[in-house]
Amino acid sequence: MKKLKGTSVAPGISRGTVCLYLGERERTLPHYLISSGQIPKELERLQRALKAAGKRMEEMVQAARRQLDKEASEIFNAHLSIITDRELFRKISQLIRRRRVNAEHAVNDAFEDYIKKYENKELHFRELIHDFADVRNHILGAFNGETGKFKCPIGEREPVIVAAERLTPSMVSNISRENVLAFVTKQGGFTSHATILARSYGVPVIFGIDVENNLDCGMKAIVDGSLGEVIVSPDRKTGEYYSRKVGKREKRKSFCDLKKELSARTGSGRRIKLKLNVNTPEELEYAKELSYDGIGLLRTEFLFRGEEVPSEEEQYLLYRAILQGEAGRPVAVRLLDIGRDKLPSYFKLPDQNGLDLGLRGAMAVETFPEIYLTQAKALLRANLGSNLQLLYPMVSDLEDLKTFRGILLKAKKALRKEHVRFNSGDIKEGLMIETPSAVMMAEELLKEVDFVNIGSNDLLQYTIAASRDNLLAENRYHILHPALVKQLEIIARAGKRVKKEVCLCGEIASFEEFYPLLLGIGLRSFSVAVPKLSDIKCELLHLGLSLGKGQVKDFYKVKSKEEIDKYFRA
Ligand code: PEP
Ligand code: MG
Repeated sequence: MKKLKGTSVAPGISRGTVCLYLGERERTLPHYLISSGQIPKELERLQRALKAAGKRMEEMVQAARRQLDKEASEIFNAHLSIITDRELFRKISQLIRRRRVNAEHAVNDAFEDYIKKYENKELHFRELIHDFADVRNHILGAFNGETGKFKCPIGEREPVIVAAERLTPSMVSNISRENVLAFVTKQGGFTSHATILARSYGVPVIFGIDVENNLDCGMKAIVDGSLGEVIVSPDRKTGEYYSRKVGKREKRKSFCDLKKELSARTGSGRRIKLKLNVNTPEELEYAKELSYDGIGLLRTEFLFRGEEVPSEEEQYLLYRAILQGEAGRPVAVRLLDIGRDKLPSYFKLPDQNGLDLGLRGAMAVETFPEIYLTQAKALLRANLGSNLQLLYPMVSDLEDLKTFRGILLKAKKALRKEHVRFNSGDIKEGLMIETPSAVMMAEELLKEVDFVNIGSNDLLQYTIAASRDNLLAENRYHILHPALVKQLEIIARAGKRVKKEVCLCGEIASFEEFYPLLLGIGLRSFSVAVPKLSDIKCELLHLGLSLGKGQVKDFYKVKSKEEIDKYFRA
């Protein structure tokens, strides 16, 4: 028996057979020279592979949409545009003709060129290297009809523990859900796209395991996603211990299923607000069966990804449908949060040094007042007989709040002038606390609004000064960094003092195991992705106690990522 320790990114326990999964690059790349007469055939092979790769990528976009994974579907869409790019085809064809090499080799060389070009660029562009590598592997896989492959045939026959050096979004999508008991990798991160996709399979996911030197096809193992451990060839005692543990978990799940229509509560009966983060309206289709306390965060960026600015009418109809669908439940609609996404050309952004520290929040309102004015008007009009809450993104101080309010006032004035009916009275206002500045001003800000949402994803990156897209930082920092938790506690306390709601809506609220700590620091309201709601609700039901003051203090003493992991294993 051997215990391997890694970092858990999705809980759960799985037992079964290990099967290695090899990315295309880990297999041999065919390399041969061709005669001039073979060029047309090679070009034809290239065209066929690109077509197959494009078709498969399109299927992956659709599947990601069905699985409510907005981020994955956007990534796959971007990959699709690389595959179908005429310039790429031209470049590879030229390499085939000039160097007289087989198509696979030319594909590899063309991408190596792109990758080299981006290696010396600033960080944001370096991130593209991973995308290029993934697309290259995807195209190479299409030459023989596959993207990545199980090393041994059991992976195709039965559910296995998938072990790999690293996962890419396309690798994950290529493995059907029924075939996965767990994912175990060497490289990984908490919020990388592959991890987010892997987590949506509902199986344990662990990274940081030396797969190459410890795991091989056919080995029996237990993956403990809560402890971040892989136990290879478990002895009888360990096997029995885990059988009991799995039995208990199953019982717990059936108990939660019985209570799924009730509101969220802890085991001791304390009411907790549990709301939904919604990225696109389609996600609400999957929420119909759930009982929840409203939409805690409706991201509106999806509306601004087309070629043209969405009109007031188009936005009005959409907001109206969502608000009506929620039938009186609160819906916190966040005004456009510029900065995270690549924006369409109509925004005409000035040159920026890195998007995360570029034009965001109130600065964006001042730069594009018309766009915000239209959105505010559409929202005001949509709120007839419903429970709209306006949520302002990236507010750092009272001045920022003033800027957002200025737009709201202008929108009301414009509607009055146009004699358009709207409900001016009872709209609740909230703001996103996602900068250390807003944390320091939490009480002052809270006094001014009805509620705040904590955007811990951004708050973490601005606290540790490392972009949320930086994979190096993913490996270095824990998503629950004590410096972040201390700030959450400051905000929770401020909320209690001024009796206003503080809702945590960042990615950390999706980890069941963090809830004793999150409740321990005083948070009582959370907003999570649709697929996570039931698990969190179930976890709450089994939580008799949150952490006491002393235990929270102990948490603040942790000094490393490893110590944070250990803390949650205890
Ligand atoms: C956050 O920053 O935690 C958040 C919820 O906002 P977004 O992820 O959309 O930036
Ligand atoms: Mg944010």
